[in-house]
Amino acid sequence: MTTSNSTVAKLDKASQNTYDALIVGAGFAGMYMLYQLRSLGFTAKVIEAGDGVGGTWYWNRYPGARCDVWSMEYSYQFSEELQQEWVWSQKYAPQPEILKYANHVADRFDLRKDIIFNTKVLSAKYIEETKIWTIKTDDNQVFNSQFCIMATGCLSTPNKPKFKGIDDFKGPWYHTGQWPHEGVDFTGKRVGIIGTGSSAIQSIPVIAEQAEQLFVFQRTANYTIPAHNKDLDLDFINEIKMDYQGLRDRAKLNRGGTAALRLNEVNAVDVSEEDRIQQYEKRWEEGGVPFMGSFQDLLLNPDSNKTAADFVKSKIDEIVNDPKVAELLKPKNIIGCKRLCVDTNYYQTFNQSHVNLIDVSETKIDSITEKGIKVGEYEYEVDAIVFATGFDAMTGALKNIDIIGTNNQTLNNKWEDGPRMYLGLLAKGFPNLFTITGPGSPSVLSNMLPSIEQHVDWISQCIQYLNDNNLTQIEPTIEAEEEWISHVNEVAGKSLRSTCDSWYVGANIAGKPRVFMPYIGGVPAYREKCEEIVSKGYEGFNLT
Ligand code: NAP
Repeated sequence: MTTSNSTVAKLDKASQNTYDALIVGAGFAGMYMLYQLRSLGFTAKVIEAGDGVGGTWYWNRYPGARCDVWSMEYSYQFSEELQQEWVWSQKYAPQPEILKYANHVADRFDLRKDIIFNTKVLSAKYIEETKIWTIKTDDNQVFNSQFCIMATGCLSTPNKPKFKGIDDFKGPWYHTGQWPHEGVDFTGKRVGIIGTGSSAIQSIPVIAEQAEQLFVFQRTANYTIPAHNKDLDLDFINEIKMDYQGLRDRAKLNRGGTAALRLNEVNAVDVSEEDRIQQYEKRWEEGGVPFMGSFQDLLLNPDSNKTAADFVKSKIDEIVNDPKVAELLKPKNIIGCKRLCVDTNYYQTFNQSHVNLIDVSETKIDSITEKGIKVGEYEYEVDAIVFATGFDAMTGALKNIDIIGTNNQTLNNKWEDGPRMYLGLLAKGFPNLFTITGPGSPSVLSNMLPSIEQHVDWISQCIQYLNDNNLTQIEPTIEAEEEWISHVNEVAGKSLRSTCDSWYVGANIAGKPRVFMPYIGGVPAYREKCEEIVSKGYEGFNLT
């Protein structure tokens, strides 16, 4: 199929910057979207704020950054050649290796020629008369396209808390999500790090190796499970590659979209304490997020959850020498409510005499001063500050773009009380505006790579369908959207995961409406729903 046959022929093709589709973001989602649309014969451009591909892995270059999904599964599967030729070095790949992989993919499929780097999308407006999206960028360019696809990522808008006095600080400060590309040398420095989420838990042990003094400012202690990361041996890699499809198929049947996350289909409260501890010990030794698969009811029954939480707390007691520090490191929340962290030597790091844990749970950080960080009356003098304070998750990047749909409605307005989408893919009032791994899809509760691929495949198939059937527009009905949102809320309500102040519910951002944003019903149920809708001629959508 060529562009001249496509529905976009209605666009004035003589005008510059006019494409079938505009894609925002050149992370793993944007790159594969571009590849797919080009393969189908559509014209597409990607607009990317950074000067390179890789999204999350382009921006998050903090010390110790690595993925906590098995590298053999945190990779594309759309090309058998690609997955056969790429060799991952470790069980959990470090950020530089994942970024190298993203660059390899961009080169291998010649993607760069259709990516516009160093350019930020400021607005996207749907022109109802022509059914065209007009997209404006920070360098005053204007693009027109029939389809606009947001590949803007779920954790891409850094949350920089507005601490009083930040401008007075004389030293450098960094956010983990926007780390300098040239790296930072903390040798001989006194460093303060604010936050103890996944990013901090990965970076603290590495920064501690360099820093002369490290002050960790902890507001909420988090659970973390050792990664037990290791080099992958070639025999293991080759064994997987002999039946890569088998591994991918098993992953599709798993709630989290990863074959590594095997669920023990037994309730924690139904087994003896001895058996429980044995299971937890085994999972602790295996390491990482699969710990939460120890028993099937950990996120359903508070009593079961407590057994897993107590186990991790007993490990903290074993590892940390100073009982007062151990006590402070023990989380008070239920385990798995906030995203479980995965570490290398996190708790051990607090046994080093130059590492200090500062509790800011009751006496909060008061301000940043010229010399450091003030908590109550006490000023901690530091040479550099690291903000590991997370992201405005899932909606932040979309809300930062001025998106205007039909009847001049803005997305910000529509989402005033929380994100409203059908399947996390499209929103009523915003025709032909797709979001990859948007709110209401498994996204951050799943292995992101296969979830990205599933969305990209669905969107490309949909665009192809519209084109083949001489249709120009797709938009969900309000009934379908509302029904899906009710379902998303209903399943979230059954899980203990929706009960604490996490970024899943937007609690980390002041004023953000409290809504459990991702779909917790699991990857298999979600995939089935997406496929069923297509088989019923895009049920729940108006096609015009
Ligand atoms: P995060 O989990 O949101 O953690 C932010 C931390 O900053 C929390 O400890 C938070 O404390 C603290 N904080 C925020 N504002 C503060 C303030 N004003 N004063 C004191 N403390 C403050 O962010 P993240 O660590 O960047 O991780 C975000 C997500 O990214 C993860 O959950 C994960 O999904 C993803 N991620 C994945 C990996 C991986 O694959 N290995 C690595 C890094 C990140 P409170 O809890 O009290 O709010």
